[in-house]
Amino acid sequence: MTHSPLAATSPKPIGLDIREANGVYLTDASGRSYIDLISGIAVSNLGHRHPAITEAIRSQAGDYLHAMVYGEYVLKNQTAFAQQLASHLPPTLQCIYPTNSGSEAVEGALKLAKKYTGRTSILAFQNAYHGSTHGALSVTGNDQLKQGYGPLLPEVHHLVFNEPLSIQLINRQTAAVIIEVIQGEAGVVTAEPDFLQALRNRCTETGTLLIFDESQTAMGRTGTLFAFEPYNIIPDILVLSKALGGGMPLGAFIASHEIMNVLSHNPALGHISTFGGHPLSCAAGLAHLNALMTENLMQAVEQKEQLFRAYLQHSKIREIRGKGLMLAVELGDTSFRERVCDAAIAGGVITDWFLFCDTAIRIAPPLVITENEIRKACDVLLQAIETS
Ligand code: PMP
Repeated sequence: MTHSPLAATSPKPIGLDIREANGVYLTDASGRSYIDLISGIAVSNLGHRHPAITEAIRSQAGDYLHAMVYGEYVLKNQTAFAQQLASHLPPTLQCIYPTNSGSEAVEGALKLAKKYTGRTSILAFQNAYHGSTHGALSVTGNDQLKQGYGPLLPEVHHLVFNEPLSIQLINRQTAAVIIEVIQGEAGVVTAEPDFLQALRNRCTETGTLLIFDESQTAMGRTGTLFAFEPYNIIPDILVLSKALGGGMPLGAFIASHEIMNVLSHNPALGHISTFGGHPLSCAAGLAHLNALMTENLMQAVEQKEQLFRAYLQHSKIREIRGKGLMLAVELGDTSFRERVCDAAIAGGVITDWFLFCDTAIRIAPPLVITENEIRKACDVLLQAIETS
């Protein structure tokens, strides 16, 4: 048996040898194209190789790559990216700390909340996914995934999502509550507006910082730039990643200047990063954000959701959960779902499942997907369901 020098943690990798990606299509070494229904995962919101993004990367690469650890030099694309992102955020979320990934952004957010409040306890939710590093794994709400990796962060407890009673557990010892507005890896479970409002109220009452992890939901995926917008509820700290860099590695934790300030003294350099806010990632993130706003893609998201819901009618589909182009098609059975995924890929459509919900398939295509492509993808999915 030969071993690849690349570490693998997936028991059954998809294994496609990808040679090119364009729009909603991935092409493998044999020249076969696949419709990408997962955007790898929830990243390529503008489609693969959007010309404005590749041009921005090319242009930045012509000037410089890495120059200095985050926060020391003035790097034009970093500044422009932060200014542009801040212009779309509420007045209390105007200070952006760029990171390389979602996990890292979660780490920064947790540290920030502890330092600002002087408290140590953190509450999170069952079935939440926040990343694979120690802190992010601590707030992740799945015991199986943590097996063998303890001890993790102390004083972390998990509440029941959408259960109003659990909010009573937030008290004046609680530094932060971290929540996904729509839980992704739980299989796309949307927070109830009343629940989120009660959570906001209780956090305000107790001086607890409310952290929204919008790694999967932000940048237009649910029809608005941020999923918190229609709730009219603003977090104290916002975590972004995935689509933020337009296909390049980029995350961020965002707060008010007053809150963020605690990282800069006692001790100074309370959070540092060699590559956070890399010039190439910020160039791509800026081009991505500009194109997202000018191409009117978000306005069409709800209509595209309705197309998926209308086409995906089958007696073996139990439910379609979610919002916009963040959907879970519930099949109710793991091995059936596995066969459907395999058959879909064989039929030219890439989909997968959710970390904590392996009975449902993921629909998270690039937002640029057309009606015709939605219809084609749904035909393949229905065929896969029918024959599996
Ligand atoms: N938070 C959420 C909500 C996520 O979905 C993910 C990734 N699936 C992360 C954090 C972790 O991001 P990364 O893999 O970039 O560390």
